[in-house]
Amino acid sequence: MAHIIVVEDEQELARLISSTFQSDGHTTEVFRDGRFALDRIDDRTRPEPDLYILDLGLPRVDGLALCKRIRQDRITPIVMLTAKTSELDKVLGLELGADDYITKPFSLRELQARVSAILRRVEMMSRENLPDTTIDSKVIEQDGLRIDPVGREVHAQSTSISLTAKEFDLLYLLASNPGRVFSRAYLLDTLWGDTYGGFERTVDTHIQRLRRKLAEADNADERIVTLWGVGYRYDKRGSRPA
Ligand code: CA
Repeated sequence: MAHIIVVEDEQELARLISSTFQSDGHTTEVFRDGRFALDRIDDRTRPEPDLYILDLGLPRVDGLALCKRIRQDRITPIVMLTAKTSELDKVLGLELGADDYITKPFSLRELQARVSAILRRVEMMSRENLPDTTIDSKVIEQDGLRIDPVGREVHAQSTSISLTAKEFDLLYLLASNPGRVFSRAYLLDTLWGDTYGGFERTVDTHIQRLRRKLAEADNADERIVTLWGVGYRYDKRGSRPA
């Protein structure tokens, strides 16, 4: 069952959404003010929810700003609620990276269906047949990148890239399986293990740092692709459709 953060300033609607998901067995946290929601999003000591439901028009900090903030460093699924279709068109144009949008008025049943679809997709990703992730000693050489698991060294062209142990393990795992999608839960489990009582956004921040280091070293477009609400994938250069 999922933990859902609901940010909606209309009290009755917020209550209805929250009780609907609770009666489905999920847990919820409700915020009716954007500022308080932002404080919660920025609070790194508390676990990341499985999904956000964000109203667009909110007091003090709007849903757009919240969505942007979440997308700075994490891929948690987001469902945006918009007040009218014209507003929806504008929001879609901004490409914020929300996973779904619903225009008011909507039925709770529709919201439930959309949320279930997203949660199911994430769940399937983490259960899918996954490749052998044993870190072996094979040197990976592709796209001008050389990854040596014995010396734990990465070179882009002739530039050496300095990575932390976790960043290296992440890159090696992704680059060993180009085209495969890895969920955050899977990466967390595989690379950090059970002993780490950690949060999936840890994976997001490591991916972000890894990307920045790769981009600095070889000025290339990003090899590590984000699939919103699902996970990460390593693409060989030139393998992406134009
Ligand atoms: Ca509102």
